[in-house]
Amino acid sequence: MESNLLEKAQQSLEKHWGFPSFRSGQDKAIQAVLDRKNTMVLFPTGGGKSLCYQVPATVLDGLTIVISPLVALMQDQVEQLNNRGISATFVNSTISSWEIEQRFANARNGMYDLLYCSPERLKTTLWEAEMPKLDIDLIAIDEAHCISEWGHDFRPSYREIRPALEDIANEVTWIALTATATPEVRDDIQKSLELTDPVIISKGFDRPNLKWWVIETAKKDQKLFKAVKQAGPKGSGLIYGGTRRNCEELSQKIEQKLGIKTRAYHAGIDSADRQQIQQEWIDGTIPLVVATNAFGMGIDKADCRYVIHYEMPYSLESYYQEAGRAGRDGEESFPILLFKEADVIIAEKRIKDSYPGRDELQKVYDVLCDHLNLAVGSEMEEREEVSIQALEKRSGLSVRKVRTALDVLSQLGVIELVEYITPQVGVHFIVSQDYIHDQINGLENQQKAEFLDVLFRQFGGEAFGKMKYLEFDYIQRKLGVSANAVKKGLQVLQDRDHIIKYESIGELPLIRLIEERHSNLLLSTEKLEKHRDNLLQKLEYMKGYISTENCREVYIRHYFGEESVDACGHCDNCLDKKEAVPIKNKEIHQIKNVLKEGPLSFAEITKRVGWNKDRTKRLLSYLLREQKLITQGDEYTWKGS
Ligand code: ADP
Ligand code: MG
Repeated sequence: MESNLLEKAQQSLEKHWGFPSFRSGQDKAIQAVLDRKNTMVLFPTGGGKSLCYQVPATVLDGLTIVISPLVALMQDQVEQLNNRGISATFVNSTISSWEIEQRFANARNGMYDLLYCSPERLKTTLWEAEMPKLDIDLIAIDEAHCISEWGHDFRPSYREIRPALEDIANEVTWIALTATATPEVRDDIQKSLELTDPVIISKGFDRPNLKWWVIETAKKDQKLFKAVKQAGPKGSGLIYGGTRRNCEELSQKIEQKLGIKTRAYHAGIDSADRQQIQQEWIDGTIPLVVATNAFGMGIDKADCRYVIHYEMPYSLESYYQEAGRAGRDGEESFPILLFKEADVIIAEKRIKDSYPGRDELQKVYDVLCDHLNLAVGSEMEEREEVSIQALEKRSGLSVRKVRTALDVLSQLGVIELVEYITPQVGVHFIVSQDYIHDQINGLENQQKAEFLDVLFRQFGGEAFGKMKYLEFDYIQRKLGVSANAVKKGLQVLQDRDHIIKYESIGELPLIRLIEERHSNLLLSTEKLEKHRDNLLQKLEYMKGYISTENCREVYIRHYFGEESVDACGHCDNCLDKKEAVPIKNKEIHQIKNVLKEGPLSFAEITKRVGWNKDRTKRLLSYLLREQKLITQGDEYTWKGS
């Protein structure tokens, strides 16, 4: 091919992003796209999917259209690209139609490299009129799993992408990107976009430093304590405890029994405390948190050494995501799943019994729309906070039913539901920039001047036109004061000085209707049954993970669509197989002997016993599990008799 183009891509990467090289997989994807081949990119979250279409967009002559599901995400990406000196824009429902026409006119004149839009946009008459006039080279479908009812974020409008672009479909190159690579989802994407024989580039569901472990037991508490006792000395950990009550109880028991500082984390704890717990876990002050699955979104802690599930998630997607929070730094870490037989039966029953009927879904939908003051036919542009209690009151259904119905509505692509987002604070300056400058310079109260100065610099020019949001945590760090002081300071600036308006969000779930309000949800019984069966099917795979006698990592990676995968050699199942050769007493004695004088490293032990590494490793893992050894740093100490 035009090695020329690939060279240009490399230059663009350095010039606009300042990165020295592509990650593995990115180079292949970009090459395929530049070769004008339809391409599917399956990388886990954080794997670097965006560059796979953004870099080609800067190299190709024509326009790249990016289809993206979330309005907020679109805006962010465009801003980031603009900051890197790349010309990009977006069209969606938050932009006035006059402005949209303007942007299309610019696009026609070749002003942009990238144009982001929502799938709903493609159905508008304006789009239909404009499309033929645009010089489009590449169409990128981000979060492509939204096409599939098998995915976790189904968007009916994603199904309309291909038909809407039919006229140009064969003249352009397509690239679809997602982190969900299960075969079902992959097939759906391929079919719906009609990509025949695409180049598929997938990477990285392997985590060589993770040692997957499943413990089947009727006595979960005991096994939990034992596991924490063993893993605790290695560093920080996380337990997914299931219900709020479990989390509270387990955290207390662990602290009492093992003397490890432990906190419970769930949606019932107020947000300032939740934030503090998060922060202290990240910096290591609290080594262990027992949490519901509200914990974790957006938390990036590199050195979490173990993640224990006290309750089983209902899908491998969830499990992989939660357990995968262990060992991001690449050091040895342990995802451990505790399981008792009844768990599966309960899970099945829960899915079957609590699956809402059509009438219930319609009712919750109606109540929700009324609560949001939406008339039939009207649309929502932004997500709004919704109190579940309010819906409970209006509907007369139990909280649990309302919750389940909202979950199902979101899985069916009727609403967008964002929960437990990181608390954010919005600031809108309602006076001029000059006025703020004068304030900062003129204030006698130095602390207050600094406070205002930090706000001004962090929220920037944009916050003069509208409310701009930043993470509470982030802004608090920048301000360098307590959470309470942040809130007080903002209150004073709003209520006494009248120079800002501010808003805190993140306590309540955010909801947006994806389409205009319909008087009747078109949910057939058949469709609901199919969806429910999907959930049960996912549970089956989870069961399979638990009961497999083969390598756990292989099981996971097969599930995510990877084909030829080697056994990891260090999950519980792999070790059991190695142990099929019995451990001899003589071998144990030999190890004990070399450790008589004091702790030694792995290399030193191997040298002294005179075995190969694998044999030493096998013995040491066995002795660790039998609690005859403990590790400290990289040394082993004999603890047994
Ligand atoms: P994804 O969409 O797959 O979740 P992103 O495209 O958002 O991932 O990329 C995740 C992060 O990795 C971003 O911060 C991005 O800047 C960074 N990144 C991507 N590619 C490279 C690269 N080649 N070199 C360095 N950093 C990269
Ligand atoms: Mg992405």
